[in-house]
Amino acid sequence: MTSGGDSPGMNAAIRSVVRACAYYRVSCVGIYRGYEGLIEGDFIELTARSVNNIINKGGTILKSARSTEFRTKEGRAKAFEKLKEEEIEALVVIGGDGSFTGAVVFNQEYNFPVIGIPGTIDNDIFGTSHTLGYDTALNTAVEAIDKIRDTASSHNRLFFVEVMGRDAGFIALNAGVGAGAEEILIPEEDLGLDRMLESLKKSRRTGKSSSIVVVAEGDKSGRNVYELAQYVEENLPEYDVRVSVLGHMQRGGAPSCFDRVLASRLGVKSVELLLDGKTNLMVGLKDNEVISTSIADAIKGGHVIDQELLRVSDIMTT
Ligand code: ATP
Repeated sequence: MTSGGDSPGMNAAIRSVVRACAYYRVSCVGIYRGYEGLIEGDFIELTARSVNNIINKGGTILKSARSTEFRTKEGRAKAFEKLKEEEIEALVVIGGDGSFTGAVVFNQEYNFPVIGIPGTIDNDIFGTSHTLGYDTALNTAVEAIDKIRDTASSHNRLFFVEVMGRDAGFIALNAGVGAGAEEILIPEEDLGLDRMLESLKKSRRTGKSSSIVVVAEGDKSGRNVYELAQYVEENLPEYDVRVSVLGHMQRGGAPSCFDRVLASRLGVKSVELLLDGKTNLMVGLKDNEVISTSIADAIKGGHVIDQELLRVSDIMTT
């Protein structure tokens, strides 16, 4: 199943799980709409041929949903009954930490084998250097910022570009560095608004005529992106300020080659772990090796922003 927010690469992961099952001669059933579909028994038999031509597609053919009923004991009891009826013996959940929490609770109650595949564009999951969809979302954000820079420089404007990341600044920091942003505001670091004003003043003094400030949705300045733009306009009247919110486009699109390969590797590993009798694990990538981490640790463990990249970003804005 795919659950929670969708991300590019989920289809490639579905394909990989299905093909690995076919390879090991295990039957595979897709569950529509995450835990919602599980409770309703909305299942479909998947064979190697059911997943032709989806590796390159964004979104998820199994659809995704959020289920309040699965948060209740009664809801999970219904889900267990549906799995028993269908003779399903193990569950692969492609999703984020909420979906993994649901899987752990379900495992604790019913001792049902579960494996998680991290699928979220935010990259905020412990136990993997990359989540499915993150690389694609980064490339989408960089491409969009490049386009905004074209218009910014034609009009000598300052653009505030908001990218996704309510609690995590991975997209903002990496897309900001990749697109050559003058300032990057992320939830993990509150550098204060004075520093941003200073930096923008310096940009002008050193001859920059246009500027891009990349802002993560959840930055800690206490102002949303429109208020930030207004604040700068009030304090630096020499700037002609505009705002662009990239929004849901960052979740869509064809997955990058990196995400397709990652999805293929993680899908195979998840099936192999289950066949080895393993459960309660999340598959992930570390130093380009596929590894597994206990799902409980993956949920609990915090995500750490790359301090070295922050340092590089500071140097780049000189
Ligand atoms: P994203 O990172 O995109 O938000 P996610 O997997 O974290 O994805 P959530 O909406 O947090 O998305 O969780 C998906 C679903 O997992 C929920 O709708 C719910 O059905 C289930 N879930 C989350 N937490 C629990 C819990 N404590 N107990 C049972 N089920 C849960």
